[in-house]
Amino acid sequence: MEKRIPLIAANWKMHKTVGESVAFIEELQREVGAVTDREVVIAPPFTALAAVRRVMTAPGYRLASQNCHQEAKGAFTGEVSGGMLKDVGCEYVIVGHSERRHVFGETNETIRLKVAAAFACGLVPILCVGEVLAERESNRTFKVVDEQVQSAVLGLTPQQARELVIAYEPVWAIGTGKTATPDQAQEVHAFIRERYAALCDKTVANLTRILYGGSVKPDNVDSLMAQPDVDGLLVGGASLEVGSFKRIIRFV
Ligand code: PGA
Repeated sequence: MEKRIPLIAANWKMHKTVGESVAFIEELQREVGAVTDREVVIAPPFTALAAVRRVMTAPGYRLASQNCHQEAKGAFTGEVSGGMLKDVGCEYVIVGHSERRHVFGETNETIRLKVAAAFACGLVPILCVGEVLAERESNRTFKVVDEQVQSAVLGLTPQQARELVIAYEPVWAIGTGKTATPDQAQEVHAFIRERYAALCDKTVANLTRILYGGSVKPDNVDSLMAQPDVDGLLVGGASLEVGSFKRIIRFV
């Protein structure tokens, strides 16, 4: 049976100059070398994409953008299209990160358009979903996550549904040092897979990678990755240092 290949993604957010980005990738590849049984995805800021692409030469490493605009071109000052990201060498794009949703006001509808735009350009979206603390405390986690996933996958072809990567990132765990426990992560991941099977198809859902994100650190990576429905990680803070990110890539 086809297996889900683990995917470990670094989301650098608004950190690192071109020089710092290049130095990081060179050191990471020197220390970790080729990766064959997992994928390592790096999402630097827009300004460093081209330079990172040039030095990313070891097998198993892929480039991602942290965002894209939903239109192909036009009068959208300050925005970058999926086609431009593909052109610079991206294979993935993070869509609907909680900071995009909650700091920049992106809605489920905008995110659906971005997912479609990414696929139209040949990029694979990493769709982020997750509840805020008040939603968890009022038992609305499943409802919120379900709505976010459902809305984003409307109109996808079976092949696109199969390629889409979903990242469950409880907002209360992002950058706070409060990781979801492995059981809490597993519970929501299993729910997402079950809902995805109902929305798309069971075979597709069994092949779809669902990542966990939110205060992933070297000391919790192994227990998170040991969960049956956790297929990878989206790492913020701990992806900024080669030492910690290297340990996360080498989860056991
Ligand atoms: P964090 O960020 O690992 O710093 O919590 C994760 C993310 O925002 O994707």
